[in-house]
Amino acid sequence: MGREYVIAGNWKMFKTAAESREFIQALAGEFPDAPGLTVVVFPPFTSLEAVRGLAARVHIGAQNLFHEEKGAFTGEVSPLMLHGLAEYVLVGHSERRELFHENDEDVNKKLLAALKFGLLPVLCVGETLPEREGGRTLDKIRNQLEKALAGVDGGEADKITVAYEPIWAIGTGRNATPGQAQEVHRFIRLQLQEKFPGNRIKILYGGSVKPENSLELLSQDDISGVLVGGASLKVDQFSAIIHSGLKLLGA
Ligand code: PEP
Repeated sequence: MGREYVIAGNWKMFKTAAESREFIQALAGEFPDAPGLTVVVFPPFTSLEAVRGLAARVHIGAQNLFHEEKGAFTGEVSPLMLHGLAEYVLVGHSERRELFHENDEDVNKKLLAALKFGLLPVLCVGETLPEREGGRTLDKIRNQLEKALAGVDGGEADKITVAYEPIWAIGTGRNATPGQAQEVHRFIRLQLQEKFPGNRIKILYGGSVKPENSLELLSQDDISGVLVGGASLKVDQFSAIIHSGLKLLGA
C-alpha cells in the first residue's frame, strides 16, 4: 500500500469567524485533491459554523471538547454540539494539559466521548525538555498512550490519530530532528501494534513544523503527517507544507 499523509493545522486562539472563512477559501485553491492526502484545520469553536461546508478538501476539526453530552458545565462544549460542525477533535494538546490542567484521566474521558459521538480524535502526546534530557521520553509516551487509550474498543482504533508533539518543540522554533521524531514514532507504532494488532492508526509529528523542515520530517518511515501550529496560520506556509506531502505522494 502506498503512503498516506495527514497535514493538519491547529490555529489555537487565532482567527475570527470571518478570517477563518477567508483562509479556508484561499487555502482550498492552493492544492489539488490527491489520493492519500488529507488536509485538516482546527479553527476556534467560534469559527466552526462559519466554515461549515466551505471546501470539501479542507476537513474541519475542533480544538477541544468536554466529555459530557450536556449539563451544568459553564463554558464547555460537548461532543453532541460538535456533531455536524467538526469531523476531528484534538484531545490532550499540551497547552490544554499544561495551562488548563487536563490530566490523563480527563484526556481518556474526552477521547472516549469523541469516539462515542462519531468524532475522530487526534490524541496529542509528548515529553517536556527535562523528561527528554533525563532519558524519560519513551516512558512518558508509553504512559500517556496507555492512559489515554484505556477502554478503547479495538474495532474503533483506526478512528484515532496520534500526534507526537514534544513540548519543547511547540512554538519554540526548535523542532525535533527527523531522526529524533522517527525514533519516537516507531516506538508509538510498536506500542499501538501491541494494543491494537493490525491497526492503521496514523501518527503525526508536531512541533515547529515549517515549509523548510516538512519534507524531511514527512519522509521518515513512521511519520504519517504533521500537526502544524504557527505555520498553519499563513496560507502560503501551510500550503507549502501540504505541497511537501504532495511531492512525497508523487502527486
Ligand atoms: C501545535 O500547536 O500543535 C504546534 C505544533 O505548534 P507549532 O507548530 O507552532 O510548534
